[in-house]
Amino acid sequence: MNNIKEIQPLLRAAKSLKIVITTHHKPDADALGSSLGLYNYLLKIGIQANVVTPTDYGEFLKWMPGESSVINFEEKEKHCESLVREADIIFCLDFNALKRINKLGNLVSASKAEKVLIDHHLEPEGFEQFRLWTTKASSTCELIFWFIEIMGDVNLIDEEIASCLYAGIMTDTASFKHGSTTATTHRVAATLIEKGAKSNKIFEAIYDNYSESRTRFIGFCLNEKLQILHEFHTALIVVTAEELKNFKIITGDSEGLVNYGLSITGIKFSVLIIDRTVARKMSFRSKDNFPANEFARKYFNGGGHFNAAGGESNEPIELVENKFKAALHDYKNYLN
Ligand code: 5GP
Ligand code: MN
Repeated sequence: MNNIKEIQPLLRAAKSLKIVITTHHKPDADALGSSLGLYNYLLKIGIQANVVTPTDYGEFLKWMPGESSVINFEEKEKHCESLVREADIIFCLDFNALKRINKLGNLVSASKAEKVLIDHHLEPEGFEQFRLWTTKASSTCELIFWFIEIMGDVNLIDEEIASCLYAGIMTDTASFKHGSTTATTHRVAATLIEKGAKSNKIFEAIYDNYSESRTRFIGFCLNEKLQILHEFHTALIVVTAEELKNFKIITGDSEGLVNYGLSITGIKFSVLIIDRTVARKMSFRSKDNFPANEFARKYFNGGGHFNAAGGESNEPIELVENKFKAALHDYKNYLN
């Protein structure tokens, strides 16, 4: 049940309360944009909050207004611990299972704070007291707009807030392309543009801002690493740790790579397996009725949306690749 309106009296008293905003591991534009959109909105109504991320994030997000105040848990563990412990309200944005925020999960769980969930992923775990949740929203940034609307404050949205929110709506809908893009999404985006978001500049900041080596890395993956498993209408790219090192790949650089597979005629399922230092990270994208999130959950301890999901494994990359290929047989009926 969405009961977010009930938080309004608490927020009115919030000038004396301690507020933390957090979002998922390796935040993308929706995760960081919703956090900073909310942060800037709270500032506007006179409330100071701290944005805490479980990890770092891509350089291409660092233009966002308020970004310089974000605190990375990996860099300032003790500081983040005390912020979460002493918080009165914790906003949890763009995730709904505490394991998505790594070690911060236990701290959030143990904190006496009221927890507020604003999210659009399937099957919320239910750790929160206040909720604004639906899978019908294109993005968490769209939900933050709804939140501000529910608070009766759309008139307070300025260029800073609008730019953060527009960025996440743009990326989570793949530039208004995914099925999740509704008439409401367009209306929200239009309002954000009226409030000062510069759509072309935001597009450039995010999509025309890659390093030369990242661009060459994409070329390398498409030319030399792409496997087409014809029998399963599946595209697969497996990237080793050595390749990541050779191309000096940093956080955010692999974003979007998995989508190329899906752009090939006839391909229904596209998968990227990356050998990150801590774990083997997988990205899944599908078309039509192939349940990418169910597949991710069943075999790779993951989840996500129906057509865009992720997972991970601690096994060596060769084993992960083999396990993935074996799992495809179970889903053959979906992939004909
Ligand atoms: P991406 O491939 O862009 O990392 O993730 C796509 C979607 O899958 C995201 O919306 C995210 O919510 C979900 N996702 C990615 N990795 C994981 C994971 O390890 N666990 C779960 N539950 N969801 C994930
Ligand atoms: Mn999102």
